[in-house]
Amino acid sequence: MSKIPLKAKTDLLSMTPDDLHLALSRHFSDRGQPDYRAGQVKSWLYQGLVNHFSEMTNLPLEERKALESAFEIDQPTPKMVQVSQDSTVKHLWTLKDGELIESVLIPTDRRLTLCISSQAGCAMACTFCATGWGGFKRQLTAGEIVGQYRASQRWANKDGCGPITNIVFMGMGEPLANQRSLPNSLTILNQGYRIGARRITVSTVGFVPGIISLAKRPEQFGLALSLHSPVSKLREELIPLEKQFPLADVLQAIDDFKRDKGRRVTLEYTMIRGINDDLDLVHSLGDIALRFNAFVNLIPFNPIPQNEWKATEPERILEFANRLKSRGVSVAVRETRGRDIDAACGQLKAHAMNNG
Ligand code: SF4
Repeated sequence: MSKIPLKAKTDLLSMTPDDLHLALSRHFSDRGQPDYRAGQVKSWLYQGLVNHFSEMTNLPLEERKALESAFEIDQPTPKMVQVSQDSTVKHLWTLKDGELIESVLIPTDRRLTLCISSQAGCAMACTFCATGWGGFKRQLTAGEIVGQYRASQRWANKDGCGPITNIVFMGMGEPLANQRSLPNSLTILNQGYRIGARRITVSTVGFVPGIISLAKRPEQFGLALSLHSPVSKLREELIPLEKQFPLADVLQAIDDFKRDKGRRVTLEYTMIRGINDDLDLVHSLGDIALRFNAFVNLIPFNPIPQNEWKATEPERILEFANRLKSRGVSVAVRETRGRDIDAACGQLKAHAMNNG
């Protein structure tokens, strides 16, 4: 007997607010219901952050059941949460097919920043990154990307941490290599969940076509380049994508982004002892920073199990920073957060897998 495949339900979290409104309006119109029902569902999703149609209590029971048969809310479920002594919170989420992804909540004085994943695993194979060593599994849907925000905000509400103010795409994956879902996820976070575009930053290791696409968007999303070396040859050892998109091309794309958006770009520089912390590199790093009037973040390397690398000594990092400053570069040494909870990208997933 041949099986008739079940029709996949449409995931409401993956739709842009406009598409969501259209789909819900059609659904309710087909059922002879007033159009305002679409608005009710939207506010349950965007403001109420509900995960089940049964929670939409101002809709008649019949309508909640009908929504359940037509649509789904494909929300990642929490597998593990770790809270650091410095209040950094790392979540490991399970997706519908069992893949695991991570996100990190980072509270600071005036901000609550959420770092989210854009892919399950990553194909970029950066040698300093635990996720890179694990290989690529699949692209996330837009719903799985924004689902991390929804679930983290629910967690923050319960914990009294207040609203998430900033989102950075610096978790697992190269966000600009997920062109199927990244554009919609940005639209949904900005227009649906009302996170200002200037408070959302996309971080890339230099995926040039993605930088060009981001520059074409009308909104003012931020861009961070994971530079990690100002010299192409050394960069290639850290970021294999350098072979496909050499530094000169990446810097040209950043130039264009800055010209089109008028926004200051951030350069991320992870400092690894004896690898990319030679003081001779400061000059060329400074040149790149001055070319874009970029802000430079120096980040002490968070060791990973896959190699023996260590973080650069604090005094050397300070020396790097001071030399950059003396050339007029805006620079900060990023505080290492969540050291006690596997907070670097890919570490919590590795930990969970090693421990079953
Ligand atoms: S640093 Fe980012 S782009 Fe590189 S392997 Fe890790 S997750 Fe992928």
